[in-house]
Amino acid sequence: PDAGTFLAVADLRAGYGAGRVLHGIGFDVAEGEICAILGTNGAGKTTLLRALCGMVRTEGSLRLAGTALPRRRPEAVARLGVAHVPEGRGTFAPLTVEENLRLGAYVRRDRAGVLDDIERVYGYFPVLKERRAQAAGSLSGGEQQMVAIGRALMSRPRLILLDEPSLGLAPLVTRELFQIVRTVNEKERTTVILVEQNAHLTLEFAHRAHVLETGRIVLSGTAGDIRSDEQIARSYLGIE
Ligand code: ATP
Repeated sequence: PDAGTFLAVADLRAGYGAGRVLHGIGFDVAEGEICAILGTNGAGKTTLLRALCGMVRTEGSLRLAGTALPRRRPEAVARLGVAHVPEGRGTFAPLTVEENLRLGAYVRRDRAGVLDDIERVYGYFPVLKERRAQAAGSLSGGEQQMVAIGRALMSRPRLILLDEPSLGLAPLVTRELFQIVRTVNEKERTTVILVEQNAHLTLEFAHRAHVLETGRIVLSGTAGDIRSDEQIARSYLGIE
């Protein structure tokens, strides 16, 4: 891998039980990049994120900043600076917004830093500060997604994995959310892998994209190139 490679994925195979979902995937992510993983339902996008964070059985090579990612040990992967925002958000509905944020800092020991970071997250998501004492389950879908991303930021990740954050959100809300993700990416140089079915909007915010089809990457390129090639947009992404 060249000096700019932060995450290197090579010949990645993964699945559940005896079944295989990913059939040899390779791509590199540069530090500070927003990398989109696109593809239709069942292509294997969620499984790819689960493979990266140690939740499913994998073969092949996964390296973060030159270090092999631990296999089947999500805690150990988290300690290396990888934060996962799962599909469906995974917030704790009965807990308050702030309690949810605190849970994201569980891998950390510095208490003062945690308080600073709660304020830092409120800086990105001012509405969460207003709702800090409210049960997360009482928030709108967009706000709950903010809690999920904010909680991930509490671990001060080097790499954040976002699984379909737009799910169930209105386009305007999704756009606002992606805008904040971009701000975090620019301010903190956090590398982002953004899994999405919503190709059109995602390509506005991503730097590079890889299109997954039945467990294989069928197309890779800069977001701009993919967006401007109508043929590609039509045949792989369903964009008219
Ligand atoms: P979606 O957007 O619907 O989540 P996806 O691209 O993320 O689609 P995956 O969720 O990774 O796709 O699913 C890929 C394949 O793996 C599907 O055929 C699915 O049925 C299978 N699969 C997903 N999770 C499991 C599981 N826990 N056990 C067994 N098979 C699974």
